[in-house]
Order: sequence, then structure tokens, then C-alpha cells
Amino acid sequence: MRVPPTLSAVLGNLFRKPATNPFPESEPVPVPEGFRGKLVYHVDKCVGCRLCVTVCPAGVFEYIPEVRKVTLWLGRCVFCKQCVDVCPVSALEMSDEFLLATYDKYDDNLRWFREKEIEKMIEEKKKAQKK
Ligand code: SF4
Ligand code: SF4
Repeated sequence: MRVPPTLSAVLGNLFRKPATNPFPESEPVPVPEGFRGKLVYHVDKCVGCRLCVTVCPAGVFEYIPEVRKVTLWLGRCVFCKQCVDVCPVSALEMSDEFLLATYDKYDDNLRWFREKEIEKMIEEKKKAQKK
């Protein structure tokens, strides 16, 4: 009797290693060059021009006028990279990090500067201006 081709493929696959990566049981596969992962903000480079605030379609950036920096709500990011391309001083960069799933969109991993940190930055700026 002739075995149908589909059945022979099914039976053959029972004894082969899986073609896909069994993540999270194994390490994730390496990301390709140019991958758009979690946004990184180099605050020291930032000149407070607000171009990122203007171009971001998802409302990720919030300008902090007292210190002329931005705070980021990364849970809103759609990874379009427009902010990276527009920043005149390369203060923004897309990293390889992609394990960002969480039940809390305000997770610490998805914030760049929380309220306490912003207050501290403003205090330090005021102190520096008084000197
Ligand atoms: S990558 Fe796109 S969505 Fe994400 S912060 Fe930048 S401009 Fe906004
Ligand atoms: S575009 Fe760059 S320099 Fe301008 S506010 Fe955004 S991060 Fe700072």
C-alpha cells in the first residue's frame, strides 16, 4: 500500500528536531542588524529641542521645561524610529531589547524618569542656578 505524501511528512516530522526556537525554554534567537527594540535615551546628550515630542505619533515623550529634557512613556512606543532619525544630537537610540511584555503599562521598565527622579532633577537644576 502506498503511504500518502502528507502522512509520510507528518510521520517524518515526529522524529525531527523542531524548526522553530522553543523560546522561552531556550534563549531567544539573536536579533538582526538594525532591529528596533526598546528605546534608549542618552539624557546627557539631549539639548531639549523637542523635535522628538513633535514627531512621535504615539505620545511617548513629555517635555520637562524646568530642566529642558524629556520623560518617556515607553509602553506607548510603536517602534517607528522617527524620534531617533530626527534627534539632532543622537540622544535617542533603539536597542536590541525586546522582552518588554508586562501587565502594567506603567512598569518601571517602561518609564524613563519617574516623578521622584524628575523632582530631583528640577531641584538639582535650581541649586545649580543659585550658585
Ligand atoms: S520609536 Fe516612534 S513611537 Fe517610539 S518613541 Fe520614537 S517616535 Fe515615538
Ligand atoms: S530630539 Fe533629541 S535633543 Fe531634542 S529633545 Fe528629543 S532627545 Fe532631546
